[in-house]
Amino acid sequence: MSSVEINQNEPYPVGHQERRSTRGVIVKCGTKQVQIGGGAPIVVQSMTNTDTADAIATAIQVKELALAGSELVRITVNTPEAAAEVPKIREQLDAMGVDVPLVGDFHYNGHKLLTSFPECAQALSKYRINPGNMGGGKKREDNFAQMIEVAAKYDKAIRIGVNWGSLDQDLMARMMDENNARPIPWSAQAVMREALVISAISNAQRAETLGLAGDKIVLSCKVSHVQDLISVYRNLSSRCDYPLHLGLTEAGMGSKGIVASTAALSVLLQEGIGDTIRISLTPKPGGDRRKEVVVAQEILQSMGLRAFTPMVVSCPGCGRTSSTFFQELADDIQRFLREQMPIWRTKYPGVERMNVAVMGCVVNGPGESRHADIGISLPGTGEVPTAPVFIDGERTITLKGETIAQEFQQIVLDYVEKRYGQPS
Ligand code: SF4
Repeated sequence: MSSVEINQNEPYPVGHQERRSTRGVIVKCGTKQVQIGGGAPIVVQSMTNTDTADAIATAIQVKELALAGSELVRITVNTPEAAAEVPKIREQLDAMGVDVPLVGDFHYNGHKLLTSFPECAQALSKYRINPGNMGGGKKREDNFAQMIEVAAKYDKAIRIGVNWGSLDQDLMARMMDENNARPIPWSAQAVMREALVISAISNAQRAETLGLAGDKIVLSCKVSHVQDLISVYRNLSSRCDYPLHLGLTEAGMGSKGIVASTAALSVLLQEGIGDTIRISLTPKPGGDRRKEVVVAQEILQSMGLRAFTPMVVSCPGCGRTSSTFFQELADDIQRFLREQMPIWRTKYPGVERMNVAVMGCVVNGPGESRHADIGISLPGTGEVPTAPVFIDGERTITLKGETIAQEFQQIVLDYVEKRYGQPS
């Protein structure tokens, strides 16, 4: 018997902290509305990497991102040619029945583009404004004011997106001077982190002074190191009630980008911080841009914050699995489930919370499969070549032979129809 005493008090708590209370910002696109903050589910965003001046290519990528589950899509608006195409991109999307709101990403010349291309200003649902990229002194103040006036005129939401790599240099210089006068000066990094927060909040307050409603403003302070991001957002969230856009900027490629983003965002989300997220992954040449949407969804779903797609639980495999069959089945089922979601989302409400287990052998296979809504335990090396299927915790049919994969997929389909189908 164990000498460890069983805890007789409350069970040890599980789960994330309550979401931080914020204003709710409504982003509108025709009759579609997406709410950020104010208790709304955490919104998944993404950004195109097409040339916005190529309206067709951009509209196609926006559609792909939206179908993958991106609830807002940001596009670069960097030149007059790009600004001129924005209304056409919106028209293309509307014609394809894609009602995802578009966010315009502006730097340096946003004030000129928004005032010179009013149809662009109207077609966008939200503007991303970087106050660090608007020149200095009076010029910066005037350019910022022009963009806020346009947002107020067309009733648009904005994100004031401050970035480590483009921090307001006037503010930074002033804060460094003040820091030097401290009895014990902070490190330059600490001053920069504080400057990011000051820049975001002071520009938001100025936008309100200029006439933009406070419930039109989302803030972000993006940096590229995990510990800096956590520190900055804890600071920012404690000093304002604007909804916050989370993202680790320049996260990188492949697993590095995914791991760094997940590490940073998970800590903040666990603390109830964050109202919308974007995962900034560098795709491989020709890579699939939708990866950033999938990763964002998987972070939120893994943490129990939202559900998007049925989750496949699969074991890693080991010396008990001598073939790749079970890996292929796990991969096929995950892909199959994700591909169904554009239709299943409306046809089978609740299916996104379904759990599917694909396990490699008898050691953990039956146990894990019983915990899933539907699971299959494949035979490991030396086991009888049969695969029992478990539905709602009960062992049901046993599959064998060459068609296990196809038969299991059909069993999943039948289960989804029976459990989540609407009565006709
Ligand atoms: S369930 Fe079986 S095959 Fe999978 S990791 Fe465990 S022991 Fe290995």
